[in-house]
Amino acid sequence: MTIDTLCVQGGWQPKRGEPRQPPIVQSTTFRYETTQQMADLFDLKAAGYFYTRLANPTNDAVAGKIAALEGGVAAMLTSSGQAANTFAILNLANAGDHVIASAQIYGGTFNLLAASLKKLGIETDFVDPDADAQTIAAVVKPNTKCIFGETVANPSGAVLDIGKFAAVAHEAGVPLIVDNTFPTPVLCRPIEFGADIVTHSTTKYMDGHAAQVGGCIVDSGNFDWEKYPERFAGLVAPDPSYHGLSYTKAFGKAAYITKATAQLMRDYGAIPSPFNAFILNLGLESLHLRIRRHAENALAVAKYLQTRLGGDVAWVNYAGLEDSKYYALAHKQFAGGLPCGVLTFGLAGGRERSVRFMDALKMIEIVTHVADARSCVLHPASHTHRQMTDEQLREAGIPPDLVRFSCGLESSADIIADLEQAFAASK
Ligand SMILES: *Cc1c(COP(=O)(O)O)cnc(C)c1O
Repeated sequence: MTIDTLCVQGGWQPKRGEPRQPPIVQSTTFRYETTQQMADLFDLKAAGYFYTRLANPTNDAVAGKIAALEGGVAAMLTSSGQAANTFAILNLANAGDHVIASAQIYGGTFNLLAASLKKLGIETDFVDPDADAQTIAAVVKPNTKCIFGETVANPSGAVLDIGKFAAVAHEAGVPLIVDNTFPTPVLCRPIEFGADIVTHSTTKYMDGHAAQVGGCIVDSGNFDWEKYPERFAGLVAPDPSYHGLSYTKAFGKAAYITKATAQLMRDYGAIPSPFNAFILNLGLESLHLRIRRHAENALAVAKYLQTRLGGDVAWVNYAGLEDSKYYALAHKQFAGGLPCGVLTFGLAGGRERSVRFMDALKMIEIVTHVADARSCVLHPASHTHRQMTDEQLREAGIPPDLVRFSCGLESSADIIADLEQAFAASK
């Protein structure tokens, strides 16, 4: 099936007489007839539902659709994108381990690595995503457990060369984790370029209507953990918290997701409500139509902003523009050469003008959210990144005048008209 059909038909497969929509199984618990039946579930000897923190039919159906969309073997839903990235890394790295991450990533993920995981004893080195393979490889240490990047960085818009990062990771014998939130699998399937694990904030385009917070981890099933039995002892060696079970021996290609469920979800929680999974699935049913319209609108707005260069606009960054340094890479990695509906630009007049401009917008709203059906705008220097100095902002690839613009599904003519009046009003 093509990706368009998978968006509509993937996941829940009703049998005769069952509901066409995935039922919202709003139950914490599931009934069994004998003590032994339940014991086999606890031993992971039999598959079945027993407690929603570990597995739930609604959540599983939606995870199955996302696994199919990404071309992976298994997926797990989480209660947020933050939880997805936390689990994706904690499933591989322990205290005393090392992670390499692109320096151009979502602020929440930066804090996760630089502050919270650091407190747990996991060190991260950040690398310039545009650096050459040799420079990135030089950062690898014997205790490196994974390399992490974002297909399209939020908010900077930097495009990750997935093939380059995968080659460095595989040479080092570690998996590449890619956060594919912005392009979604409709525009980019990172596994096809060598990513081993794919994560999502499903809060963004996958849901698309700002209705639920959620996340997902997809395993390609391609990484050979048993080739490095010491480095990935957590997956290969017997797990004392599961009666000495080896995840790779017992679950083969599903070892990584099974371990994430059996250990991390068991111990840390962060399961989504089945109701949220249901809402996410409604979003997925039209994802293929929406994300293309978001991207087409972004290209139209980026081209309009270019006509203002030298006047109101200081710079425009969208990988779909011919003069973007990521144009060739975008054509290699993204269907139709367009990354997503988010673009960034700066106003002539710097930080103060950017603020005046945003305050003058009428239809386009100032919200923290991004990748929503309604166009919205954010000024990282005043909002998400306001604790940073101008110098720290530049190092993170976020100039102080940067406006992050998320093109919605409105007519591009109406979006451009609102921008036009705000330019005039903010002079
Ligand atoms: C929003 C976002 C996250 C965090 O997701 P939440 O659902 O808000 O927890 C992670 N990565 C990227 C790229 C994001 O845009």
